Amino acid sequence: MKRVSSLSDSQEVKLRAFYDNHEAPQVRKRAHSLLLSHQGYPIKEIADIYDVHPDLVACWIDEWEKDNSLGLYGMARSPIQRSLISKMTYRELVNAFRTLEIPADKPVIVHASPGILGNTQGEKNKFWGALDAVYGPIMAPAFTYQTMTVPGEGPENNAVDYDNPPIDNGDALFFTPDLQPSFPMGKLPEIILDQPYGKRSRHPILSFAGVRVEDALEAQKLSDPLAPIEVLADKGGWVLLVGIDQTANTSIHHAEQLAGRKQFMRWALTPAGSLECPNFPGCAQGFSALSQPIQYYVKKEKLRSTMLAAISLENLIRVTRELIRKDPTALLCENGRCARCEAVRREVRRRGI
Ligand SMILES: [Zn+2]
Repeated sequence: MKRVSSLSDSQEVKLRAFYDNHEAPQVRKRAHSLLLSHQGYPIKEIADIYDVHPDLVACWIDEWEKDNSLGLYGMARSPIQRSLISKMTYRELVNAFRTLEIPADKPVIVHASPGILGNTQGEKNKFWGALDAVYGPIMAPAFTYQTMTVPGEGPENNAVDYDNPPIDNGDALFFTPDLQPSFPMGKLPEIILDQPYGKRSRHPILSFAGVRVEDALEAQKLSDPLAPIEVLADKGGWVLLVGIDQTANTSIHHAEQLAGRKQFMRWALTPAGSLECPNFPGCAQGFSALSQPIQYYVKKEKLRSTMLAAISLENLIRVTRELIRKDPTALLCENGRCARCEAVRREVRRRGI
């Protein structure tokens, strides 16, 4: 049985730090899966816990065993044997997207699971062809966590251990417009950027890729990283999740900001030096709790074993703001070692939000 055979103490500490506090929920899942495998959990059971394909868990273990990689610096290198899209036809995809009845003229922000697409050009063309046939303006996160650095000191209550950062500044990559998005973003942002009209915003960690959304991309500022989502919301935009749950839904972070929730300072390496990136959002691990309050506004469609879910930004933002207004600790995660959720709770005790 394939499993993580051995972990040194320092590797285990690193995986635990990533599981507790990494910015990307998907990296937290991945680190946790490796820890579970090391504890003897079978691949099938880990796949069930995180509702992913067992081939994807096997792929994470292969990569880890090969070079202790968490896939932070690129795509999964081991191709997933049979990606989900490879089994679907173009017509099936188009029909499933149409069934969601998102108005054709409204912009969509799309989050697609990294396990959805394989590495073949045919699969990418099929997926993009179907999205492009059904929707007009399309945007997707193209985040690059591999640019992040941690300075020796910084703001207090910022969920950063300045003395023992979990990342090594020496591993950080410079942000450039063609830097590959981090593994958790999946392949969609790269596919978008391969299109003749594909554009990317310039935030060194939280850039977005899109077609026909130039105004949204241009609205992004270092101090306002989620401004593109606000532009989409103003235009009656929608969120589309493909084979991925609410923890990947970046627009919930925008609603948190609007509700006044504490934000964070992060840093990124650029050719111009290390830049402060204020108003960085918190932890998304607790966003699954939103599924119930938004259930009446979510349109769902099953595509073979993959779930599609869509909700208008208007409804998503309204419900999220209302939840946080009633309970300023709503949607925080339950991992007691999660530094960002703990920092938010401290802030709530201090000033009530
Ligand atoms: Zn948390």
